[in-house]
Amino acid sequence: MPIATTNPATGQVLKSYDPMSEEQVDAAIERADLAYRQLRDTTVAQRGRWLTAAADLLEADRDETARLMTTEMGKTYAAAKAEVTKCAAACRFYAAKAAEFLADEPADAGAVSATRAFVRYQPIGPVLAVMPWNFPLWQVMRFAAPALMAGNTGLLKHASNVPQTALLLEDLFRRAGFPEGAFTTLLVGSAEVDRVLSDPRVRAATLTGSEGAGRSIAQIAGRELKKTVLELGGSDPFVVMPSADLDRAAEVATTARCQNNGQSCIAAKRFIVHADVFDAFAERFAANMSALRVGDPMDPDTDVGPLASEGGRDEIHAQVRDAVDKGATVLCGGEPPAGPGWFYPPTVVTDLRPEMRMWSEEVFGPVAGLYRVSSYDEAVEVANGTSFGLGSNAWTRDPDEQERFAADLDAGNVFVNGMTTSYPELPFGGVKNSGYGRELSALGMREFCNTKTVWVGEGAATAGAGAHAE
Ligand code: NAP
Repeated sequence: MPIATTNPATGQVLKSYDPMSEEQVDAAIERADLAYRQLRDTTVAQRGRWLTAAADLLEADRDETARLMTTEMGKTYAAAKAEVTKCAAACRFYAAKAAEFLADEPADAGAVSATRAFVRYQPIGPVLAVMPWNFPLWQVMRFAAPALMAGNTGLLKHASNVPQTALLLEDLFRRAGFPEGAFTTLLVGSAEVDRVLSDPRVRAATLTGSEGAGRSIAQIAGRELKKTVLELGGSDPFVVMPSADLDRAAEVATTARCQNNGQSCIAAKRFIVHADVFDAFAERFAANMSALRVGDPMDPDTDVGPLASEGGRDEIHAQVRDAVDKGATVLCGGEPPAGPGWFYPPTVVTDLRPEMRMWSEEVFGPVAGLYRVSSYDEAVEVANGTSFGLGSNAWTRDPDEQERFAADLDAGNVFVNGMTTSYPELPFGGVKNSGYGRELSALGMREFCNTKTVWVGEGAATAGAGAHAE
């Protein structure tokens, strides 16, 4: 895949880059390793000042950064601005909370025959981050902010279609004051990942991307005995039960499917509706989807911009065609418009069956699959009947059903009467083929820490844990 910015709204290649040479990559790893030795000896307070400066810079440059993201991958300008703002908030969150998340945790010394015992969280070194294009700033930031605060350094291999956003991120952390090498962008293709992750100086990897990329990185990491966090695909269920507020559910369903032009791992993709309200929901949902305006992502009136690549657009159209050829019904959309750019209309497909690709595959664009079920148990069976387990949504005003969905949906999160989203305050990640490990919250920060047990016998200097992270 060429490393280049191609505007998905026009198909024009705007800027291309030569991949870095082996020597350049090696030098970058060396700088990351040196920077790690420097960073781990700085205080959390100092790192917090740098991360706060990064938040200030993000906010100051918001519009320009958003324009760049829209140009590189086609999200609407409004969504891109919101993404920058969210990244700044995440920086401020980790700058404020790191001391608490990294503080020594006292243990019961008496129970382990110690004078003093505690758990300490320490950085592990350079971490490789392989990232996707769909939230080109946020996906990186939700790794980078906690990792840098913990004292690790980052090596970013970003998706090949967002090189300018990748370089902007390196520049951001440098301008914010982090030491040279603390965060470096490697302009390389995915074939280089093996060599980088095999380097003994690189201690771990995080990947957000497809199942295939996850398997590949997990194999390398397994061979090299390195820790990984994998945030992979999803085919999130959105269950609507008879007691749901149908207007609200249909409104949120539309956003949940089409935000980011339908290219979100946690987009609701399968809409599983109880037969008692199926027709009423389907009518509202299809009407809302049809009403969305598709077009120039820089236009403030646009709801849905182009897909990020021609291949991505062709893939979802092939999935829709496959379903239609095997007997599915299209309630709206289903045909890409003529003309330049990789646009696809919001589409609702129903009468789906297990032999259709849409039944089991992730659909990464504004295409919703609509399923009719006749009971709570059948709703859960269809919802869990996927190899993925990232997010899930349940719409019901019945308190008993709310509790049961929270327990029964097999996913990394359950959002009841709301849309799955990510918050710095809450852990984020999946089960099954959606990956493992968690990002965000204290858990995300500790994924790339050495959770060190400290046991002190006779002659302890003080009682209780030290204030290491303060
Ligand atoms: P992708 O093809 O897997 O690309 C993601 C990143 O992995 C890119 O940097 C890509 O580099 C690299 N890559 C691809 N194949 C690789 C391999 N075999 N070895 C090492 N690196 C490899 O994913 P995508 O299609 O661009 O992104 C969409 C997918 O990401 C969807 O499945 C979506 O659900 C998932 N996603 C998951 C989350 C989550 O939090 N769970 C969030 C967002 C997206 P190149 O660009 O150079 O190929």
